[in-house]
Amino acid sequence: MTGPGKSPGLALDQTEQLVVVHDRDSGLGAAIAIDDSTLGPAIGGIRWRTYPDEATAITEARRLARVMTLKSALAGIASGGAKSVVFRPDPVPSGPTRRALMEAFGRSVAWLGGRYVPGLDMGTTLDDLRVVATRAPEICVLEPSEATAVGLFAGIEAVTRLRWPAGLAKRTVLVQGAGHVGSSLARKLAAAKALVLVSDVEPERAGRVAALVDGAVVPPDRVIGHPCDVFAPCAVGRLIDAETAGMLACEVIAGAANDVLSHRGAAELLAARGIDYVPDFAINSGGVIAIFAARSGWDEPRTTAALQGIGEQVREILETARATKRTPLSIAEDGASSRLGHRVTVPD
Ligand code: NAD
Repeated sequence: MTGPGKSPGLALDQTEQLVVVHDRDSGLGAAIAIDDSTLGPAIGGIRWRTYPDEATAITEARRLARVMTLKSALAGIASGGAKSVVFRPDPVPSGPTRRALMEAFGRSVAWLGGRYVPGLDMGTTLDDLRVVATRAPEICVLEPSEATAVGLFAGIEAVTRLRWPAGLAKRTVLVQGAGHVGSSLARKLAAAKALVLVSDVEPERAGRVAALVDGAVVPPDRVIGHPCDVFAPCAVGRLIDAETAGMLACEVIAGAANDVLSHRGAAELLAARGIDYVPDFAINSGGVIAIFAARSGWDEPRTTAALQGIGEQVREILETARATKRTPLSIAEDGASSRLGHRVTVPD
């Protein structure tokens, strides 16, 4: 079993602070992982889902917190990386019980004295954040998905131009996950005249988004290996491992899903197959940029410029990778590490 001290490639002493929360009265079980706060208060969403056990939940929080450190550092914002997970009660309740749980979580955030800035993640809602904010007012109640999609689209547009001078026009892009980010991305791709394929474990959602963009649906179990020019994973993490890296039938991988490589070595396997892998933390930073911008009082033009800047940044990462015969992942890790002043890599 993978325990909190045995997360492969991410020893416990690599996490700056791990807080495990048990609240007797509400029944809350949660963990807050602050990976690194060198650059500022650590931003990271609250994930609330069913886990097989507590250790798995904590491992996920620590891995995702590391990704947030890399993301913020590379984005050039003065914030660190964190993530929290709620693992108890299970199943996830609604109504007044949920409110009491989020209040208890907010008290734990408040004890950290502003070191952790929670946001939305899988399973939590803006209403949850509003409740947390009643106990920990430093948090930012904001839905970041559109900003993430704007940055992601800017990045995809920039990297496709490196391969195809006409950019996205007539290129086939397979979007896995037709949720907040994936559905917005699909619309932007269609407006850029790409041919859009959509996949989701919820067939009705996939069908609705595909119809909106005049695209087609790919069944979830056919995504890996389905031919396309660009594969945009916008659903689950740890998707690309030794096996799937050998099966993907695309030329570019660029999506929103965090922690999409199951291990660092998968980046080498993709490079060996001539696939341009754009590191998730380099291209999906739009949401964290928007949260930082809102907390810092940036005006709209400044925020928009920062989101669009993701395009230029990922283009440079891919160009440097080609010129130096290294992977885009290691180039992006170098960029984040030099800003942090110490070496930080994705977990193995
Ligand atoms: P979401 O929950 O709105 O959408 C995810 C979609 O993926 C859902 O429609 C779900 O049914 C689908 N899905 C789940 N498993 C799937 C599978 N195996 N195959 C196909 N579809 C599947 O989430 P979102 O906000 O759109 O975020 C998408 C991904 O991007 C997540 O991994 C998230 O962590 C990451 N991300 C999101 C943001 C943001 O601002 N929302 C920022 C950075 C990273």
